[in-house]
Amino acid sequence: MTASFSNLSLAEPLARAVAEMGYESMTPIQAQAIPVVLTGKDVMGAAQTGTGKTAAFSLPLLQRLLKHENASTSPARHPVRALVLLPTRELADQVAQQVKLYAKYTQLRSAVVFGGMDMKPQTIELKAGVEVLVATPGRLLDHIEAKNCVLNQVEYVVLDEADRMLDIGFLPDLQRILSYLPKTRTTLLFSATFSPEIKRLAGSYLQDPITIEVARPNETASTVSQHFYGVPDEEKRHALHTLLKQNGIKQAFVFVNSKLGCARLARSLEREGSGHGAAR
Ligand code: AMP
Repeated sequence: MTASFSNLSLAEPLARAVAEMGYESMTPIQAQAIPVVLTGKDVMGAAQTGTGKTAAFSLPLLQRLLKHENASTSPARHPVRALVLLPTRELADQVAQQVKLYAKYTQLRSAVVFGGMDMKPQTIELKAGVEVLVATPGRLLDHIEAKNCVLNQVEYVVLDEADRMLDIGFLPDLQRILSYLPKTRTTLLFSATFSPEIKRLAGSYLQDPITIEVARPNETASTVSQHFYGVPDEEKRHALHTLLKQNGIKQAFVFVNSKLGCARLARSLEREGSGHGAAR
């Protein structure tokens, strides 16, 4: 049986946003996590990107924050209530875009801050007030130190892709950030693996978490067949040409592990002619 979003009694603005996304049913992580997050319990979730985990935490979190919704222009009326931490700017950006879509019919504000960008526009947004702040740890600390945001009213913190945050060496930054947050809050931790380090992090910062695990998403669509050819380095190019020709392939994506290798392969495909143009 597939679980439908309509069973969740999401508030109308959120239900409307979900309907607009065209989602027909909940993914397994959504079906399991949304009801738990709605109760305000801590969650330790094992799920990869691509499983729909962003909606699994953002929808219930937005639902719980709706009571704070207001149209005031005063920044004081829009303190950070939910903090979502991610390891990279790309992930932070993706999650922030999804949160914006889910929150579009509410008056809850969201923003994203990550490094490698001018602090100024981020500062202006933070100072105007945002309820949901998506951030990478280093840049968030910069903003905290510059007093651009206050985290003493945070009710939810999401440690997303927690294993990757630890791999990058963000543990000290995370510990500092978490030390600024109120003790009574909900903490949601998502990680692809539950390594001993992740379990330690959860042990220190989560209270009686509900553990949720979903299977890896199917990595290949059933319409895709995969073949493996063991070919010595010097014969790879020839093997690719032969494969393309033999199968009459007119268009193909070819992934190469270096810029130089990519340029060489593209040149060789162009030289070979056979009607193949190569774009890099
Ligand atoms: P995520 O794992 O959160 O990065 O989500 C992966 C992709 O799945 C995103 O593009 C979402 O828009 C999409 N998605 C999330 N939930 C659903 C759903 N219930 N049905 C279909 N697509 C979804």
